Amino acid sequence: MKEKIENKQEFISNLKARAKEKCPQHADTIDRVKVAFGGETKKGEVTENLDINLNLGYMESRNPDEQLFLFMHEVLHIDMGHMGSMEGKDKHLWNLACDAVINAQLSQKLGLAIPSDLINMPEAKDKTAEQFYVELVALSKKGDVEVAGELGDHHNEWEERDKQMKNKKSSVQIVGVMPGLERHMERHRS
Ligand SMILES: [Zn+2]
Repeated sequence: MKEKIENKQEFISNLKARAKEKCPQHADTIDRVKVAFGGETKKGEVTENLDINLNLGYMESRNPDEQLFLFMHEVLHIDMGHMGSMEGKDKHLWNLACDAVINAQLSQKLGLAIPSDLINMPEAKDKTAEQFYVELVALSKKGDVEVAGELGDHHNEWEERDKQMKNKKSSVQIVGVMPGLERHMERHRS
C-alpha cells in the first residue's frame, strides 16, 4: 500500500490531531514538537532540539494506524526522557529496552497492535525502560536475548551526542538520531 503525501503540513496537522485525541496526556509535547520530513532516518528520529524527523517514503508506505504509532513512538521517547540516560549503559540493550517499553505502552494507549516491523516484547509491559534494561542485562548474562522486530528509529548517536555536548559544557539535553537499524531475530551474547 502506498499513498503519496501531497500536502505535508496538512498530513502533520492531521497526524497531531489524531495523536492528541488518542493520547491527550501527551498533548503538550504533540503541540510543541516540530515535525519535518528529513534527516537521515529510515523511519523516524528525535532531533537534538527534541523535535521529530520522519522519513517521507516510509510514512507513505504505512497505513494511518502505523503512521500514528511511529509518530507517538517518537513522542514517547521525548516524554520519557530516554535521550539523556544512555551513559554507562550497553547501547544495544538500552535501545531495545526503550523501544520495547514504548511499543508495549503505546499498543495499550492507542488500542492498536504493534506494527510488525517494530520491536515487540510483551514482557516490557508496565515497566520503565530502566527496569526493563536491568532485566535485559541479566538475561543477556545468562544467555541470549532474542529480539523480534527492529528498532523503530536510531538511537546510536545518543551516546555520541551526550559526549559531544558534555565537552561543549552545555546544559542542553541530548538526543540522538537513529536511521533505522535492520534488526530481525538477532541474537546477542554477553
Ligand atoms: Zn525508538
